[in-house]
Amino acid sequence: MCGIIAYTGSKAAAPILMDGLSRLEYRGYDSAGVAVIGSSGEVAIRKAAGKMPQLADVVSNNRPGGYSGIGHTRWATHGAPTYENAHPHTDCRDEVAVVHNGIVENFVELREELRSRGHVFSSYTDSECIPHLIESYMAEGLPLEEAVRRTAHRIEGAHAVVAVSRLNPGKLVAFRLGNAGGLVVGYGADEMFIASDLPAILPHTRRVVYLVDGETVSATRAGASYRLLDGSPVDKSSVHVPYDPVLATKGGYRHFMLKEINDQPEVVTDAMRRRALFDTNEVVLEGLSLSDRDIADIRRVVLIGMGSSLHAAMVGRFWIEALARIQAEADNASEFRYRDPVIDRHTLVVSVCQSGETADTLAAMELAARKGAKQVTLCNYEGTQATRIADGSVMVRAGLEVGVAGSKTFTCSLTTLYLLAIYLGLKRGTLTPERRAELIRELMRLPGMLSALLDGSESYENLARRYAAYPSFLFLGRGIQFPMAMEGALKLKEVSYVHAEGYAAGEMKHGPIALIDDGMPVVALAPRDALYQKMVGNINEVRARGGKVIAIATEGDQQIEDSVDDVIFIPAASGLITPMLTAVPMQLLAYHVGVRLGCDVDQPRNLAKSVTVE
Ligand code: GLU
Repeated sequence: MCGIIAYTGSKAAAPILMDGLSRLEYRGYDSAGVAVIGSSGEVAIRKAAGKMPQLADVVSNNRPGGYSGIGHTRWATHGAPTYENAHPHTDCRDEVAVVHNGIVENFVELREELRSRGHVFSSYTDSECIPHLIESYMAEGLPLEEAVRRTAHRIEGAHAVVAVSRLNPGKLVAFRLGNAGGLVVGYGADEMFIASDLPAILPHTRRVVYLVDGETVSATRAGASYRLLDGSPVDKSSVHVPYDPVLATKGGYRHFMLKEINDQPEVVTDAMRRRALFDTNEVVLEGLSLSDRDIADIRRVVLIGMGSSLHAAMVGRFWIEALARIQAEADNASEFRYRDPVIDRHTLVVSVCQSGETADTLAAMELAARKGAKQVTLCNYEGTQATRIADGSVMVRAGLEVGVAGSKTFTCSLTTLYLLAIYLGLKRGTLTPERRAELIRELMRLPGMLSALLDGSESYENLARRYAAYPSFLFLGRGIQFPMAMEGALKLKEVSYVHAEGYAAGEMKHGPIALIDDGMPVVALAPRDALYQKMVGNINEVRARGGKVIAIATEGDQQIEDSVDDVIFIPAASGLITPMLTAVPMQLLAYHVGVRLGCDVDQPRNLAKSVTVE
C-alpha cells in the first residue's frame, strides 16, 4: 500500500511533499522518495531506503528547489527495498519521473520490448516500465498527457500513477486504472495536489475530486482537467470534505462496507507484498516460527475459526491438501474447544481470527497448546491475544475494517492462507518449479482480477432491485466453492437480514431440493473448474423445478449464461484461486440487497466486530 503525494503551485514543493509523505507514514513502507522539477528545468530526485528520517536527511542535506513534484512511500512488490528500487522512477533521459501504486502484470514483456528498443533500466521494479513507455510516446512527439494515456493502455493490472516531466514544468498528470488504490485531487489557492489518501492534503485544502477507474487528470497551479483514457473530456465537480474524520475515512463511499469491498485489490496486494516474491517465485512468511524440521514433521493440519474466518479456514484446508499434500481439516473453534480433539506435536493448528480476540478461537488455541500442537495464527492486528498464544503469527494486512460484516479481512485471510499453503508446499517439496512459477504468476494477476470484478456496480443494483423481495436464498457450491457458498449466505444474512443457506451442491438432493420453487432464488457458484459439469447438473435440477438461478461463472461461459436467470462473470483463473474471486460478487450482492432493504449495512443489528464472549 504505497503512499503518493504530488504538488504544483507557488510554494517550494519539497517541504510540502515531505510533509505529505510523513502524513502517509501509517501506511507502512520500506523506502521513500521525491522528484522535484527544478527551476532550471531538471528533474531532481532524492530517495532513500528505509523510513522518513532517512529521506529527510537526504533532502535536508541537498534540498531540491522547485514548485512542482511528486513523492512516494514504497512498499515493494517487485525488487528489494533498495535505493535503486525506490520511487520516483525516471526514463533514460531523466525527463520524466513517475510514482506508481500497483503491479504491472505484463512488466516482463514490456521490459523486454523496451530494452530491445534501447531503453536502459536502472531498477528491478515493475514500475520502471512506466516512465520508459511515457518517454517512448513523447519521443514520437506526443504531449505528456497523451503519452501517459497511451501508457495506461499498455500496462495490465490495477494502478494509480502520477507523472511529471521537465519538459512540462508545473504540470502533474495522473491516472487511475482499477482499484490499486485511490487518487484524490485537491484544489488549493493557486496550487493543486494529488494524493493517494486525503490525510496527505487535508492540511492544505478540503476541496477535492476523487478520480475513478479509467480517469486521468492533468493539473497545473491554475486548476485541473479530466479525461477518460480514450481522451474524451469528463466533467468532474469538486466536493467539500467535511471536517469529520469518520466521513473522511469513508473516502467518498456511501458506506464503509462498500469502501472496504473496493479496498480489496489494494489490501490483497499488501497481503502478498514481500511474501510472494514475483522475481524468484518464492514465498517468504515472516513471523511463522516454523523451522524446516517442524514443517517436515507435520502430519496433520487443523484449521480453526468462527464465522467468515471459519469459511476461510475451510478453503485453506483445500489449499493445504492440494499444494502441500498434508492431511488437513477445518473445524469450528467453538465445537473444537469442547471436544477432546486428537492433537499432538505433529499437528499444526492454524487459527484464522481477524480480530485476534475471538473468545472461542482463543479457547480452542489454548486447548491445542496444552496438547502440544504447533500453532500459527492469521490475524489482522499485531499484539492481540491470538498472537500471544500461537507460536507464530502472520498478519493478514487488511488494514482497519469498520464494517462489521467482514469483507476485506476475509479476502486477505484467504490470500494469506493461500501463501501459507504454497509455502508449506515449497518446504515439503510437493511443488515442481513450473507449478510454483504458475502459482506465483497467477497471484500477481489477483489484484487486477479483483479490480475488474469491482466494475459495474449498476448491475448489482439491478440484481438487488429484482431479488431483494425474496425471503430466502440458497447458495450452492462444490469443492473449494462449498465454503464460499456458506460465506455468501452468511454475508447476505448479516447485512440484509434475509434468510440464506449455503450448501455443498451435492447435498441438494438430500433435502434442500424440497425447498426449491420460484420463490427461492439459488446463487450457484459455477466457475469453470474440475467440478463445473457437476454444478451445471445442479443448476439444471433447480431450473427444472422452477427455481431462479443467479450463477457466478467464468467470463465467456455462454452455456451458463443461456441457462440461468442472471449471471455474474468472474475472470478466468485456475480453480485454486477462484475463492478470492467468487467472494467479491457475493459481497456486492449482499451489500446492495441490504442497502435496498434499508438495513444498517455497516453495523447490522445484534452483531459485533470482534466476538470476545463465547
Ligand atoms: N510494484 C511497485 C514496486 O514494487 C509499487 C509498489 C508500491 O505500491 O509501493 O515498486
